[in-house]
Order: sequence, then C-alpha cells, then structure tokens
Amino acid sequence: MKKLIEIFFIISVIILGIINRDSLINNWQRAFQQYFPCKQPIYYRLGTFDTRFGISKEQFIKDLASAEKIWEDPTGIDLFEYSPSGNLKINLIYDSRQLTTDELSSMNSTLDNGKESYDKLTTEYKQQQASHDQKSSDFETRLANFNVRKGNYEAEVAMYNKQGTVSAEIKNRLNTERDYLNTESSAINQLHTDLDNEVTSLNAMIANINQNANTLNMGVNQYNTISAPLSEGFNEGIYKSDPKGQEIDVYQFSDDKKLIRVLAHELGHAIGLEHVNDSEAIMYKLNTSTNMNATKSDLDAIKAVCKIK
Ligand SMILES: [Zn+2]
Repeated sequence: MKKLIEIFFIISVIILGIINRDSLINNWQRAFQQYFPCKQPIYYRLGTFDTRFGISKEQFIKDLASAEKIWEDPTGIDLFEYSPSGNLKINLIYDSRQLTTDELSSMNSTLDNGKESYDKLTTEYKQQQASHDQKSSDFETRLANFNVRKGNYEAEVAMYNKQGTVSAEIKNRLNTERDYLNTESSAINQLHTDLDNEVTSLNAMIANINQNANTLNMGVNQYNTISAPLSEGFNEGIYKSDPKGQEIDVYQFSDDKKLIRVLAHELGHAIGLEHVNDSEAIMYKLNTSTNMNATKSDLDAIKAVCKIK
C-alpha cells in the first residue's frame, strides 16, 4: 500500500512539475510528511531576517539547533535539519510585538533603577531619622540637666539676696555658674535650631520618597497594562502552511531561552503537533514556562504523530 502511494506521488510530481516547481516540491514534501511522518527530516532555511532583534544569524541558527534537540534527543529521530535550500522558511519579523517587548524590557530596567533609588532613599531616611532621634533624646537630657542647674542657681541667688551678704568665694562660684549657664543656654538654643532644621530635611525626604513611590506605582501599572495582552496567547510566533510553502514567523522573544521555546513550539506545529494541556510543555498554548525540555505530554504527542512507541 505504501509503495502504491509512493508511486502515486511520483506521478503527481511529474504532473504538477509542469505547473510550478516550488509549490510542487512543497506539496510533495508535505504529503510525504503526512503519509510517512518523521521518516525524513523537515529541512528549514532562514527567510526574512530583521536585524532589529539584535541577534546574529549564527546565533539564530544555533538556537534553532537547540530547538531541534528538544524533540530529537528524547525521540532519537532526526526530525529537522538546517539547509539553505530547505522547504520550511523561518522568518524573523520585527513588528509592534517585539517593539512592545523591547519597551517593556527598558521599562523594567527603569523600574529596577527606580526601585533601587527608592530603597536607597528609604535606607538613608531611616539612618537620618535614627540619628535625629538619638540627638533629640540627648537634647532632652541636656535640657533637663540645664533646667535643674538653672533652678539651683536661681534658688541660691534668691537665698543670698534675702540674706543681703555673700562671701567673695561664693560670689565667684555663682558668677562662674552663671557664665556656664549662659554658655549652655546658647548651645542648647543652637542645638534646638539644628534639630528643627533636621526635621525640615527629614520631611523633605519623606515627600521625595512618597513621590518616588508614586512614580514607581505608576510605572508598575503602566508596565502591567502594556504587558497584559502579551500573556493572552502564544503569539510570539506562528506556523503556517499553504500550497506556496511552509513558514514559521517569529515575532517576539525576550531572551534566548524564550526564543528557543518559541522555535521548538513552532517546529512542533510544523511536524503536526497540536497544543497540549500542560503548562510546562513546549506545546502548551502559552510561552510562560522556562522549562527547556519536552514534557511527557509533549512526548506522548510527538510519539502519536510519528507513530512510534
Ligand atoms: Zn501554538
């Protein structure tokens, strides 16, 4: 039966060959793939390659090789191969999707910087507040001591005034105490002014910290608004197949690992895999996992398609 189908294909190759060579080869290969799944590798080549992604062709081909291995290592089958004349065209297309990813990545580093400076400000504020509290407490003690000594001095002066006489020795001691109290009073007043200034500066710091927090919150909200639609589907890439050919378009990836997962996912579609219901799987509808290996549900799916045990 398989022999018959092969003969049929050869005949159709000859008939279609007159019409269009490219679409013919494609039809032939697609049909071969369908009837003899996984019997010959799918040959792929690079198509459109937009350099705005900031990845070299060499790296991209390396990532494709890594994506291949995700399916080939566990099955032991040569499923995909790079060939400059390959039938499956893989395109790297820069559009709003990658633009959004790039924007998000730059917003992310802005937010990180914002968070860093917010944390720095907060730490600085806490340190200054602690030092201010210590100074305030020292001030209170010093003021209390001053008031005690001032009270004693005044009581003594009042007493000697009442007596009407005072020895030169006592007069000297009281004068020395008065001078000390005057000096200490100035120092305490200065300290009070300093502490007031510190309070003003601490309040300014709080205002600055609050403003930073608001900016950060706004940034986070904006980030979430922009990133929300991205999580709605595996829209970083698409596999399409029509009589003109098989193509994989990659629209977006945030890093090398995500790109390899997108490529492995779309290569999976190229071989005939559908989505599976396992959020860790390569063939899950969302590219949310960071798992770089085919899961059991991936393997069950590819074994079914390749008709192997
Ligand atoms: Zn998909």
